[in-house]
Amino acid sequence: MTRQQRLRVELPVVLALGSNLGDRESTLRAAVHAINALDGVTVDAASSIVQTPALKLAGVDHSAPAYLNAVVLARSALEPHALLERLQHIEHEHGRVRDERWGDRTLDIDIVTFAHLLVDDELLTIPHPRAGERAFVLVPWLQLDPGAVVPGVGAAAERLSGIENDATEFEAEPLW
Ligand code: ATP
Ligand code: MG
Ligand code: MG
Repeated sequence: MTRQQRLRVELPVVLALGSNLGDRESTLRAAVHAINALDGVTVDAASSIVQTPALKLAGVDHSAPAYLNAVVLARSALEPHALLERLQHIEHEHGRVRDERWGDRTLDIDIVTFAHLLVDDELLTIPHPRAGERAFVLVPWLQLDPGAVVPGVGAAAERLSGIENDATEFEAEPLW
């Protein structure tokens, strides 16, 4: 192991989960448990599930299966790249394949924020650069934290008021 992967502290992270293929609800539920089972990561809370139409490169695609999305608050003792690698492993275990950009997928797990860290390299950008434009991130995040802030961007509630909110509540047992 060449890089220091473990921090000496746990830092709060916000994760955005999405699924639009397969048994979407079961996948989200399994993903939250898999995140908590990671060595060095503890889940504190999960939002309810929201449903949104699929967003493709060409725009909203009502012919594609809709997404279920949720946001998870956790603590990470893994440094950001190590966390990303573990999250991608969980995506892979749930059958995630990457072909077309923003294509249909069984599971997507994005790092929205990592404490107040700013990261920008070829593998990782934190805060997630598109989080502030996405109702499927902002709506569930605000449920868990009405004062949520995207570092360097602004209050999540203010961002949400500036975009179309196409997220609807999806009836399900709590994820966590
Ligand atoms: P979007 O990032 O617009 O939500 P996506 O989630 O579909 O798109 P992926 O195919 O899951 O994109 O990831 C593509 C790459 O994005 C990953 O290989 C990863 O290196 C990079 N990436 C950069 N910043 C982040 C982040 N904050 N969280 C997750 N992946 C990120
Ligand atoms: Mg994504
Ligand atoms: Mg992703």
